[in-house]
Amino acid sequence: MLPYATVQEAEAALGRSLTAAETLWFNYSATKSDYFLYCHNIIFLFLIFSLFPFYYLFLEYFFKGSVGPYKIQPKVKMSFSDTLRCYKSVMRMFFLVVGPLQLVSYPSVKMIGVRTSLPLPSLWEIVLQLGVYFIVEDYTNYWIHRFLHCKWGYEKIHKVHHEYTAPIGFAAPYAHWAEILILGIPSFLGPAMVPGHMITFWMWIALRQIEAIETHSGYDLPWTPTKYIPFYGGPDYHDYHHYVGGQSQSNFASVFTYCDYIYGTDKGYRYQKKVLEQLRDGLKTNGEQIRVPHDVSTQGHKVD
Ligand SMILES: [Zn+2]
Ligand SMILES: [Zn+2]
Repeated sequence: MLPYATVQEAEAALGRSLTAAETLWFNYSATKSDYFLYCHNIIFLFLIFSLFPFYYLFLEYFFKGSVGPYKIQPKVKMSFSDTLRCYKSVMRMFFLVVGPLQLVSYPSVKMIGVRTSLPLPSLWEIVLQLGVYFIVEDYTNYWIHRFLHCKWGYEKIHKVHHEYTAPIGFAAPYAHWAEILILGIPSFLGPAMVPGHMITFWMWIALRQIEAIETHSGYDLPWTPTKYIPFYGGPDYHDYHHYVGGQSQSNFASVFTYCDYIYGTDKGYRYQKKVLEQLRDGLKTNGEQIRVPHDVSTQGHKVD
């Protein structure tokens, strides 16, 4: 809720005219409580969990010829009813855990200083803060994820997320309720260190989930804009983590590749990549121009 009754009052307080974006924000948020604005995340997450995986499903069913060559594990086919079952499980967890978690976590958001006030942050401020949030979350998530791969963590909690050895977009948030709670902490650390505007916070929660859906999509599409982000892991990177499965000691990072590189947990993946390159080069010299997915090149042996 904004402490101004009119645009003129807001302009007088800022000492300048509102920008078009600030006028929009004023008109939308002036009479809404900060708690209500924060809870918009529930709607955003519901839409993201439903629509973005559907985009990949749509491509799979209606543009099979175009996206087929970019499927990471083409041998694995998932039926529509299995996909629907995954979505239902995610939605059950969404209404039982994710939504309520959003409802009760507002005091911590207020405490760390996420603001709804004017002026709005500049585009640069938003981009820099999102960069910090992604880096902090990636680093913390790396270690929590690595801990979840110890015997106890895996058997009791993380095994659920690994039920899909060839993940799909709908399976990105598919996890044990305890994992959803634990991995919620890294999401708050960045905003706690560099508090920003509510709009930045909305964008952070939305982009992080869209990124997770992309990395679980099962498709390494060449036209995705994330290809231009330095040190970005992407679908092939995380798909390998699921492909190797429960024994995986590789590719723990959620977003970038540098943690696995620094701590030496990408050796299996890099070895696999090297083998694939050699196989592809061999096929090229034989005149065959094909993309080699990571589930066909090591005679069924997973490398970790
Ligand atoms: Zn894992
Ligand atoms: Zn995963």
